[in-house]
Amino acid sequence: MLHIGCHLSSARGYAHMGNEALKLGADTFQFFTRNPRGGKAKAVDPQDGAALRALMGEHGFAPLLAHAPYTLNACAAEPRVRDFARTAMRQDLDTLETFLPGNLYNFHPGSHVGQGMDAGIALVVDLLRQMLRPEQRTRVLLETMSGKGSEVGGRFEEIARILRDVNMPDCTGVCLDTCHVYSAGYDIVNDLDGVLTRFDAVIGLNNLYAVHLNDSLTPFDSHKDRHARIGEGSLGLDAIVRIINHPRLKHLPFCLETPNELPGYAAEIRLLRDAWRG
Ligand code: FE
Ligand code: FE
Ligand code: ZN
Repeated sequence: MLHIGCHLSSARGYAHMGNEALKLGADTFQFFTRNPRGGKAKAVDPQDGAALRALMGEHGFAPLLAHAPYTLNACAAEPRVRDFARTAMRQDLDTLETFLPGNLYNFHPGSHVGQGMDAGIALVVDLLRQMLRPEQRTRVLLETMSGKGSEVGGRFEEIARILRDVNMPDCTGVCLDTCHVYSAGYDIVNDLDGVLTRFDAVIGLNNLYAVHLNDSLTPFDSHKDRHARIGEGSLGLDAIVRIINHPRLKHLPFCLETPNELPGYAAEIRLLRDAWRG
């Protein structure tokens, strides 16, 4: 069974997203833990959490992805921004532990904004070491980035160093974003096997827990981050079908973050389920 879903709005609560996912033919989804531009998270209604957990169990959902806000920058130069990263991640992880244990929390490693890659990586490691608790059931994923500006996580080596220095493999992992890695210069269109071999050697494929499945509006190695609908970008449908069918990837939850309304997502999910060879 292909595990696939898409990004959904959390505005109407947890159970609403679960029902929406079912209608789309999805068996996983992603949501923002709070406004992606930052701010406070809404309090969760315990009954709403229980309803989503029950729905997921009944319908055999794969793990969900809770996405941290974009403004969460663990390696910002400004202490006030790093404080927000700490506060927001602590709250998000506590909420997930309480209401949706056993799922995934995805965040962007951040931008070092001129402090240099080494300093940036050290700050991300610091934050994770403060946040992670050996007993937690939420796995925290670093997302592979396109490497625009001073972004950390555009190279597999950067992600690998963070994971190694945090050294809590039971609590951490990686989410591979197909648009981002292609923009970062990993040629998953012409050499998927080569990129995965490289990923395995540097990070370890055993650390890969989810895939953000996106086409890209910009060309290979452009270091931009512009998602396109499946088949409408520089990756193309054939490359994306090879990704979901790859023996090293096919068991993972795939999550669409393509520019779509719900009917567009439903169509992409249908298309990809039809293209999955099992
Ligand atoms: Fe992301
Ligand atoms: Fe992504
Ligand atoms: Zn992106």
